Amino acid sequence: MESCIKENEGKRAHDPLHHDRTEKRRQNACSVDVHCKEIIADRLVWVPGPIIVGAGPSGLAVAACLKARNVPSLVLERSNCIASLWQLKTYDRLSLHLPKQFCELPLMPFPPEFPTYPTKQQFVGYLEAYAAKFAIRPAFGRTVVGAEYEEGGGGVAEYVGRWLIVATGENAEVAAPDIEGLRDFKGPVAHTSAYKSGGAFRRQRVLVVGCGNSGMEVCLDLCNHNASPPSIVVRDTVHILPREMLGLSTFGLSMWLLKWFPVRLVDQFLLLVSWFMLGDTARYGLRRPPVGPLELKSLLGKTPVLDVGTLAKIKSGEIKVQPAIRRMTGHRVEFVDGRSEDFDAIVLATGYRSNVPSWLKDKEFFSDKDGLPRKPFPNSWKGERGLYAVGFTRRGLMGASADARRIARDIEQQWNAETKHGQSRS
Ligand SMILES: Cc1cc2nc3c(=O)[nH]c(=O)nc-3n(C[C@H](O)[C@H](O)[C@H](O)COP(=O)(O)OP(=O)(O)OC[C@H]3O[C@@H](n4cnc5c(N)ncnc54)[C@H](O)[C@@H]3O)c2cc1C
Repeated sequence: MESCIKENEGKRAHDPLHHDRTEKRRQNACSVDVHCKEIIADRLVWVPGPIIVGAGPSGLAVAACLKARNVPSLVLERSNCIASLWQLKTYDRLSLHLPKQFCELPLMPFPPEFPTYPTKQQFVGYLEAYAAKFAIRPAFGRTVVGAEYEEGGGGVAEYVGRWLIVATGENAEVAAPDIEGLRDFKGPVAHTSAYKSGGAFRRQRVLVVGCGNSGMEVCLDLCNHNASPPSIVVRDTVHILPREMLGLSTFGLSMWLLKWFPVRLVDQFLLLVSWFMLGDTARYGLRRPPVGPLELKSLLGKTPVLDVGTLAKIKSGEIKVQPAIRRMTGHRVEFVDGRSEDFDAIVLATGYRSNVPSWLKDKEFFSDKDGLPRKPFPNSWKGERGLYAVGFTRRGLMGASADARRIARDIEQQWNAETKHGQSRS
């Protein structure tokens, strides 16, 4: 009963995260490099413990939980560092959206001196300390391009193991919208994964497409860096909530209320307080969905926006709300209400998607449509024949930590049974 994994070195040439990797790895010569060389020379490697694909927070969490149970694992990561999403693809002003107590990984709390919402640099520092504490040394530059279950094993696989843990994340690839004329837009077009700071857009007319947490925050950042009043495209309905209410974090308060009250009642409460604090957001072009924020999150995975100051700028006219885009020509953008305006640059805050269907041959556990496990939470962490998923519950780092704990417990039992079996045979 084996999973076979293929990682393709050639693919790395097309990996935008691969810059300087070879040089860095040469500089940081460590045991992982030696190990990789052996792997590359042998082409077929038996991994005694689980193979974890992805060294983001989810991959690190499950590796640490396994380590604490004395189960060794191998982490394969396509980029040249841990937490590549956070280190390479996020903007400078990013802080955790949720309070730190809901974001720490198993077995290691955040340092007490960290603020309620740690900055991205603090979060990355924490993850580096986490990897060091549990001696997790991922094999970097390993893009998994194929993984399949093979009865009896063998074949051309490079890594062969008994368990495969998918930790490649819900945000593995950029989701780009299909807008007529976008390719021919006559100015820079960047996804938020490439956006660092509004400093690069000083005095430019910028259109931000997408009004999730990232889109809203990028608009604020543009304002703070003196871009011409940016515009944000709000195609759909959206729930905006204050990040804090009644002196507590909105997220924490919601979690607490959900212990006692049904989700619809909690939603009504959140909407009432939001109305008092923010007013009627529909007046500013931000219509609310008919379903409440928490119910919508659990039904469709759509995260409410936690406002960090953008709404005030929308109210004051420093940020303009635009409807959906009909088409683009040159610098001109035409909206569905018939109006059109010229812009110098476009920022796509259109989110990400999972890449699992592109490399995992098993089509039962993960859906081909969205690349997420077919089984709903809380049963989404375990598939058949040694296949597991961590970090695909749409519940952020808290969901990933819960998955990691469950997976480690489950594999430990099998590991112990097999080790004992092996010992009694020898
Ligand atoms: C801007 C932003 C802010 C967020 N803020 C919060 C927050 O405050 N609180 C919270 O709980 N959640 C937050 N989230 C959601 C979520 O917790 C994070 O996205 C988190 O990074 C998920 O961790 P992960 O390890 O599952 O995925 P990722 O961090 O995406 O890590 C996956 C890793 O897998 C690697 N990989 C992908 N494909 C392959 C492959 N084929 N082969 C090898 N390696 C591969 C990637 O390079 C990456 O390093 C935020 C998300 C974003 C985008």
